[in-house]
Amino acid sequence: MSEKKTKRIISADDGSEVKAGSRKRAAKQAAPVGNATGLRIGAVALWVAAIAFEVVAILILVGTINWTFMSATAQLIIALVLDLICVVIGSLLWKKANRIKPASEKNKLTFWLWNNMGVIVAAFAFIPFVILALTDKKADKKTKAIAVVAAVIALLIAGVASYDFDPVSQEDLAAATSAITDDVYWSTFGKVYHTTQDCHALNVSEELTYGTVEQAIAANRTRLCAYCAKRDAITGVVTDKNVDDIVLDDADVIPDAVQEPAEAAPASAE
Ligand SMILES: [Zn+2]
Repeated sequence: MSEKKTKRIISADDGSEVKAGSRKRAAKQAAPVGNATGLRIGAVALWVAAIAFEVVAILILVGTINWTFMSATAQLIIALVLDLICVVIGSLLWKKANRIKPASEKNKLTFWLWNNMGVIVAAFAFIPFVILALTDKKADKKTKAIAVVAAVIALLIAGVASYDFDPVSQEDLAAATSAITDDVYWSTFGKVYHTTQDCHALNVSEELTYGTVEQAIAANRTRLCAYCAKRDAITGVVTDKNVDDIVLDDADVIPDAVQEPAEAAPASAE
């Protein structure tokens, strides 16, 4: 039997701790979830910087830039790493902005392109360099080979880091906020939000954050726990799984209630 642990409950508004069950506030008083426009400006600025580092890498490759205290290979690697860092941080800001102010999914193509803008930027931030390196005839062959391999690896890392694996649409957010008006709860490492702090899936969590659904989604808990959806009969909201195929939030510990197979309590009918 797993004892239910006492949880710390932290407000998403200001990080203050409250005693379980003692908190009450109207959802409309919640702190704003963040400034999507500011995040997008930051993302675009970083992406511009990434392209600038790519240009620097190209200039190093063709010999226009050459700091004599360092080998050309080392200079290229540094430029490509800075390029990569700017793409990835820009994409993280972009994805965060999309959690706060999601795009409509009415047009699937524009929805995909908007959510994965970072992947497109990653392509622009490395592929021209790779093409130029492969077609350049002047640069040292070994330097070129190392630079191409480094740029392709950076492209793959940037692409995966920029891809939005759990996109949220304007429609998803509207459905969630209209179906759930009370506060929700999420754990430190969990990927979903819950309608109650007493949810099975949270039995092993020592610290929970509570806030509005908007705050949960802004904190990248993009889906509702399937248990909570089933228990509260909430429909039309994106859940982590089909309710028949439930997994736990803190996945490696399975509460007793779930371990018991359905047959364990045979109905003594008749
Ligand atoms: Zn739950």
